[in-house]
Amino acid sequence: MNTKEIIEQTDKYYLPVFGRNQIALDHGKGCKLYDAEGREYTDFLAGIAVNGLGHAHPAIVKAISDQAGKLIHSSNLYYTEIQAKAVKVLSEVSGFERVFLCNSGAEANEGALKLARKYGVAKNPKKFKIISAVHSFHGRTMATLTATGQDHYHEGLSPLPVGYEYVPYGDIAALENALDDEVCGVLLEPIQGEGGVYVPTNEYLLKARELCDKHDALLMFDEIQSGICRSGKWFAWEYSGARPDVMTLAKALGGGFPMGAFVTTERLAHVFAPGDHGTTFGGNPLSCAAAYAALTTMQEMKLDQIASETGAYFKLKLEELQKQFPDKIVEVRGRGLILGMELRSAGAPIVKGCLERGMIINCTAGNVIRLVPPLIISKEEIDALMVVFREVFEEF
Ligand SMILES: *Cc1c(COP(=O)(O)O)cnc(C)c1O
Repeated sequence: MNTKEIIEQTDKYYLPVFGRNQIALDHGKGCKLYDAEGREYTDFLAGIAVNGLGHAHPAIVKAISDQAGKLIHSSNLYYTEIQAKAVKVLSEVSGFERVFLCNSGAEANEGALKLARKYGVAKNPKKFKIISAVHSFHGRTMATLTATGQDHYHEGLSPLPVGYEYVPYGDIAALENALDDEVCGVLLEPIQGEGGVYVPTNEYLLKARELCDKHDALLMFDEIQSGICRSGKWFAWEYSGARPDVMTLAKALGGGFPMGAFVTTERLAHVFAPGDHGTTFGGNPLSCAAAYAALTTMQEMKLDQIASETGAYFKLKLEELQKQFPDKIVEVRGRGLILGMELRSAGAPIVKGCLERGMIINCTAGNVIRLVPPLIISKEEIDALMVVFREVFEEF
């Protein structure tokens, strides 16, 4: 099929929920993607912060291929060696004793929210409130979209689950006011991604830790986008030292294969009794093989350090761009390879202009160019993007 046929057929059958770019991708290698017409693109999106090791990484390809020929699915009614390996390595890299595996970010947050509810309500039937932040993004299920602090995700879906409250992100006083003994959990992204790439101060996250201790609420960090080396550390909370009680993961966890997880402490693992939570597909052998290969490869490569160094270079280049186009660019934000460039006007024409020149970038929150490339992106590729940015910004 050619691009036109692919687009027409997809649009005929798929629900019209996505605003898609008018290209059809066929395959990828490293940081390059190729469309159905054979055109090459450099990928600065990584499937929305998913393909940390780029496309078709040999270790991931081999792990998935080998496992697919052995056992793809077995259910959690049985043990598998590859799951035993995956949960051990995830515990090691995260520093948390206990792991629950699922299939997506929303599911990971859904599990964490359930854990916080069980924890709170067992102590006091009124202790069920969940606090999350304005501009946050936590997923598309009813509970996670309710926790998402953006009104447009709530529209037309009432009645929403009760017990959710929102605080302005980064505002210590607001957090202090919102927390009381009826709060069972606080859910925060240590770097907000989809909401526009906002990095909070260390003090903010430390204060959240302190307030959760004071009110016996669970501090839950959604590291679905910021985690797994993207921020320049394995997990973005490490910059602050504010260690959460629960951390949720997905996106880059499976090296491109769908996988989610939440990790927690030994103590909190027992809030759930057998039967309180579960999944058919979560932790299946194929996803475990992918995640095990991804995590061990990243460990060996010290991909956190690579992301930190490349990210610093990238940010510097974007700041130079901002100085050149102060009438178009408000500011550059982010850490490691989760970077945002806020524009004075809508980002869509910039995304389109870059795509036409072979660069895949993304815009979030309407006017923030979000750059979340594979963590193996090179300085040469970043330089090439800067050339394209200059051309596009001069044109618009
Ligand atoms: C992407 C994302 C989610 C949702 O993940 P899905 O796999 O799409 O369900 C939740 N939280 C954050 C911070 C995300 O970036």
